[in-house]
Amino acid sequence: MKRLAILGSTGSIGTSALDVVGANPDAFEVVALAAGSNLDLLEQQVRRFAPPLVSLASETAARELRRRLASGRTEVTWGREGLLHAAAGTGADTVVSAIVGGAGLLPTMAALSAGKVVALANKESLVMAGELMTAEARARGTRILPVDSEHSAIFQCLNGQIGQVRRIVLTASGGPFRQLPKEAFARITPEDALRHPTWSMGKKISIDSATLVNKGLEVIEAYWLFGLPLDQVDVIVHPQSVVHSLVEYVDGSVLAQLGVADMRVPIQYALTYPERCVCPAARLDLEKLASLTFEAVDRQRFPCLDLAYEAARAGGSWPTVLSAANEVAVQRFLDRRIGFDEIPTMIRKALDAHPHRAVHSVEDVLEVDREVRERLAGR
Ligand code: NDP
Repeated sequence: MKRLAILGSTGSIGTSALDVVGANPDAFEVVALAAGSNLDLLEQQVRRFAPPLVSLASETAARELRRRLASGRTEVTWGREGLLHAAAGTGADTVVSAIVGGAGLLPTMAALSAGKVVALANKESLVMAGELMTAEARARGTRILPVDSEHSAIFQCLNGQIGQVRRIVLTASGGPFRQLPKEAFARITPEDALRHPTWSMGKKISIDSATLVNKGLEVIEAYWLFGLPLDQVDVIVHPQSVVHSLVEYVDGSVLAQLGVADMRVPIQYALTYPERCVCPAARLDLEKLASLTFEAVDRQRFPCLDLAYEAARAGGSWPTVLSAANEVAVQRFLDRRIGFDEIPTMIRKALDAHPHRAVHSVEDVLEVDREVRERLAGR
């Protein structure tokens, strides 16, 4: 039986992970859950999965949960210490890292430092600190297993043959504005942008998918997970989201992984790896697939992808600048303070305003993250 800690248990990935656990009760035991502020859902999760430890973002929320669980045996903690305890201080074998944004970095790093296997959904942490995280995993003799569907697909197609790969190709649905003229981008509302054509996800990643910054973050994620040069990591638009990504080998063979657009499949693979077991997701019905199409990314209309390649090539502090500026921009767009078309502009300006520098520690990375947010707050 695998012991799991799930960080971000009340989110889209967290609830899907708990669905997988619920469908395989003999395979998993939940030893810790961490959430932000969704007290009601966390309470339900505690009542169902009885974890010995849970953490919430604020003390007020933690006190309220303690009151509600008065007779239970679950320890309720809060804040940064609580989160780090959930990530690293329990008997978990595997930590599902599914907090959204830069807030996921410290707990993910803590889990690796404690020698836990990390099932990684929080791509922002790998974008910000890929070198440090992969080095830590190596030093502690543990692994980072991909949850992202594209990286799970590549992981499954690689089969340990990385030396014979010509390139990997990440598929992108293209988001809701794949065919919308650029002139209309300024009028896009948060409601339009949250309507993803194929996946149901949290708000930030839905907006990231609409701008294609998500694909850029995934390019950087793939670079660190698989150790291939950036010019061997490509992106192609595949609107049906059936082919989750592809690996092209030197002999011209292309292996792809296909499946329904349901995150429970890659989440479960990360949790059961190297085994497979029956998954609660629907099956892919090949006879109902009318067609599978592929097209190039329109890099003029979706400049965020090239911004991510540029930041990744520069390395050091730039990927953190990209990620932090994007997070601020997405929140401002959701708050209706900027237009959809201003998201790439804000990222561009943040990169230009930031003198590139090396980062040697998580503290350095967090300092860059803080600087970017402070600079943008002043505008
Ligand atoms: P959601 O917004 O649905 O969920 C985010 C989770 O993080 C919630 O549980 C939230 O808690 C928690 N959280 C936020 N801030 C904090 C904090 N400071 N401390 C503790 N918990 C916090 O996001 P998703 O599940 O969509 O995405 C999570 C991550 O997974 C992202 O990095 C995303 O890019 C990645 N990912 C998501 C996919 C998807 O299909 N959704 C696919 C591939 C990757 P609460 O709600 O209680 O406040």
